[in-house]
Amino acid sequence: NTSEVKILLLENINQTAVDAFKKQGYQVETYTKALAGDELLEKIKDVHVIGIRSKTKLTKQVLDAAKELIAIGCFCIGTNQVDLDAAAKQGVCVFNSPFSNSRSVAELVIGEIIVLARQLGDRSNEMHQKIWNKVSANCFEIRGKVLGIVGYGHIGSQLSVLAESMGMTVYFYDVLQIMPLGTAKQKESLEELLSISDFVTLHVPELEETKNMIGEREIMGYMKKGAYLLNNARGTVVQIPALVKGLKSGHLSGAAIDVYPKEPASNGPHFTEYNDLLECKNLIMTPHIGGSTEEAQSMIGIEVSTALTKFINQGTSINAVNFPEIDLRVINEEESNTVRVLYIHQNIPGVLKEINEIFADHNVDKQYSDSKGAIAYLMADITQVTEEQIEIINHRISNTRANIKTRVLY
Ligand code: NAD
Repeated sequence: NTSEVKILLLENINQTAVDAFKKQGYQVETYTKALAGDELLEKIKDVHVIGIRSKTKLTKQVLDAAKELIAIGCFCIGTNQVDLDAAAKQGVCVFNSPFSNSRSVAELVIGEIIVLARQLGDRSNEMHQKIWNKVSANCFEIRGKVLGIVGYGHIGSQLSVLAESMGMTVYFYDVLQIMPLGTAKQKESLEELLSISDFVTLHVPELEETKNMIGEREIMGYMKKGAYLLNNARGTVVQIPALVKGLKSGHLSGAAIDVYPKEPASNGPHFTEYNDLLECKNLIMTPHIGGSTEEAQSMIGIEVSTALTKFINQGTSINAVNFPEIDLRVINEEESNTVRVLYIHQNIPGVLKEINEIFADHNVDKQYSDSKGAIAYLMADITQVTEEQIEIINHRISNTRANIKTRVLY
């Protein structure tokens, strides 16, 4: 019964999520601030779902107090604020929103390409110092220029379409073979991509293999003289000293950097690590705002509330960060005596045999299970079950030795 579902939303989560939950008939309680300590322990103890952003810390101790909790929604990208392992072991599924700001980043890159090509950052800075400096030398249109995209995922591919509509020629490099959009073309190596691109833009995730991916060898050795470098991915991908060398030597005509190896934790005059960058010409620096738009915030609200609603109502764990990802077609509502069993259990031998013995007298319409580390998750739709039998099934499954959390939906 959806009206019994209790949802606690902290940290001023977007109204799109509040509306989506209310539409489902859930009970929703909202707070604008983060909660901590006893206040958090008190509030979390009887809710089924909690929604947070980056400030509320869901440690094992907090999760231990959350006896009714089935899911956590991180209405942001990062999930470091949650003890993901402890959550999984308690059968609590965690969702986040990694891709809701792709468009915002892609649009920013388009803006930056033009800003770099026209040296707008420098001109604007000069005007702020009352200097009139009308120049056209080394200022370009972007039409017909080659954009090299490193990492053709959600952001890279979206950017590819936007850049082509501005008249750019797009090539990309990715570790995966990916179907190009529009008339973009994939290149076999990073080196080849760097050597043909007027603008190189990075859209790879932070991984061991992408750490320091762009250094002196790539900038001075492979990038064209006069090219531009854009990093809106992660700070560790570009070696800052190599970038400074590229800019100061004049090998690079400019760069746009939104992310840094070390970033200040709060707003204020704390950007003190990279004084060499401050002296570089035609360098656009932004404080990790690539995905920071009102639209991205609404999208996050929609994306995470949709994932949570599907998990609450159907058990679907697709895109969960700490859980095996399971889905089945929507429960067959025509068939009135169908129930869906959701069985979160320890990943140990013999479990399926036990479960199928419990199911033996019924018709298993569909069944799917998967595991992730120590946790396994089984979803089964069973038909021809009477109301009495639902209780019995629930009781027997909840009492299996591997049981972590069992829900029966009907
Ligand atoms: P994504 O996972 O959709 O795409 C990443 C792509 O990079 C994939 O196609 C993958 O195959 C490819 N890749 C992985 N390793 C590679 C390698 N070694 N060489 C070449 N390609 C490689 O990710 P996304 O949503 O497009 O995001 C990309 C990056 O942008 C992420 O690091 C993300 O953290 C960052 N990001 C930054 C901001 C910001 O505010 N500046 C906002 C959103 C995302």
